[in-house]
Amino acid sequence: MAQVVKTYRACDGPILRIPSLELAARQELGLKGKSGSGKSTLLNLIAGILLPDSGSIEVDGRDMTRLDEAARDGWRGRRIGYVHQSFHLLPSLTVWENLWVAAALSGQGKAERIESFLERLDLQDRRNFKPSRLSLGQQQRVAVARALVHHPILVLADEPTGNLDAEMAQTALELLRSMCRESGAALLLVSHDPAILSQFEHSHDLSELNQACS
Ligand code: ADP
Ligand code: MG
Repeated sequence: MAQVVKTYRACDGPILRIPSLELAARQELGLKGKSGSGKSTLLNLIAGILLPDSGSIEVDGRDMTRLDEAARDGWRGRRIGYVHQSFHLLPSLTVWENLWVAAALSGQGKAERIESFLERLDLQDRRNFKPSRLSLGQQQRVAVARALVHHPILVLADEPTGNLDAEMAQTALELLRSMCRESGAALLLVSHDPAILSQFEHSHDLSELNQACS
């Protein structure tokens, strides 16, 4: 992304002003920032859920800011996987259906890949369960599977371990990283937790990138 500025209310001034941020194919990058520093906003801009006031945001060679909403939704569905802190699984659908929706929306998912993920993540016997009947760790594993089921080029993870205790957080982080690596996806993870960020070879503090803070 280049020269990206994002304001929520004109009178408040921008909350993000990012001259440049790049992620190479298959790269892992951790971004640290305290609560309210704009981490979720940044990921939503990259995903094309939000639009910036100005600047360009390229994902796999396409500038999200030049696409209309339907085209951004389509590009996101095919190119991006998203893991949220509170998982955002669809509550009325089963584990299998949650994964199938992501696969079907992208047009790139295959039932065999869902099967292999269920096996890999020890979720075979939970396939017909709704998310409310799963443990937090199981919900997290479904969220990771859903983010990768359609072979995205980029996975965005927004405080993906924020709802888990330290041990579960570590397991979930290792799983997310190894699944991104195996799938060939780049990973951009944001968190306020130094213990998580210290494990990344490449990490930045959002305040170093964000000139709106200074
Ligand atoms: P973080 O994820 O780092 O906690 P956010 O990106 O959620 O930060 O929010 C950054 C700032 O923007 C905060 O001050 C927040 O209050 C504000 N903000 C977030 N979303 C909105 C919105 N939809 N409308 C107005 N202000 C918002
Ligand atoms: Mg946030």
